[in-house]
Amino acid sequence: CGIVGYIGAQDATPIIIDGLRRLEYRGYDSAGIATLDGGKIDIRRAQGKLVNLEKLLGEKPVSGSCGIGHTRWATHGRPSEINAHPHYAGGIVVVHNGIIENYLALKERLRSQGHRFTSETDTEIIAHLIEEHHKQTRDFEAAVRRALGEVRGAYAVAILCEQEPGKLIAAKLGSPLVVGKGRGESFVASDIPAMLSHTREMIFLEDGEMVVFENGAMRFSNLAGTPLEKAAKTIDWSP
Ligand code: GLU
Repeated sequence: CGIVGYIGAQDATPIIIDGLRRLEYRGYDSAGIATLDGGKIDIRRAQGKLVNLEKLLGEKPVSGSCGIGHTRWATHGRPSEINAHPHYAGGIVVVHNGIIENYLALKERLRSQGHRFTSETDTEIIAHLIEEHHKQTRDFEAAVRRALGEVRGAYAVAILCEQEPGKLIAAKLGSPLVVGKGRGESFVASDIPAMLSHTREMIFLEDGEMVVFENGAMRFSNLAGTPLEKAAKTIDWSP
């Protein structure tokens, strides 16, 4: 279970795959990636080892200088391509490490609002919940805040939105998430080694904090929307 996100000027896919490989020690049963290019999200997912995802990407490549990747350790729903992350709903795409405890109640409510689910995971409700709030607010950031305010449990998430390309949002509660600060590019990952070959400037997110990457910059806040100043630390170990 690992997360890697990238936003910058380079091709996101090799950076994300390399990052996921460096998180392999965390264990996983499937892997997936989503990129956002020209306002369109592309998703590739595969059961098993990262090489399966790489093989798939070799046959059906994705492009974009913004993306999120995931290695999954199944907690809700068996290991399968359908249950592999990223999960998508109405322009929102999410990768998640952790467990959403109230997902059944939220799923029922979202179903009654017309949402259709394709996986057995707890994670898929996050995508639908953000989609629902995005419909109401037309504001990606506000939608993420409202959705995360409704979920109970543990999460590290990275999220993209087709209607607001050029923006990557990540947040955490109970699962680890670290931000890497590059020059005109930014990284986010479950652990330091995923980003160490790109930058040594790291910012450690605390529980209940969120980061918005946009236009080569990053903004931190809590779930209530209060802006936060966060200092970067220089990591001096070798990759
Ligand atoms: N609970 C989620 C799932 O089963 C995420 C698992 C993980 O942390 O990899 O899909």
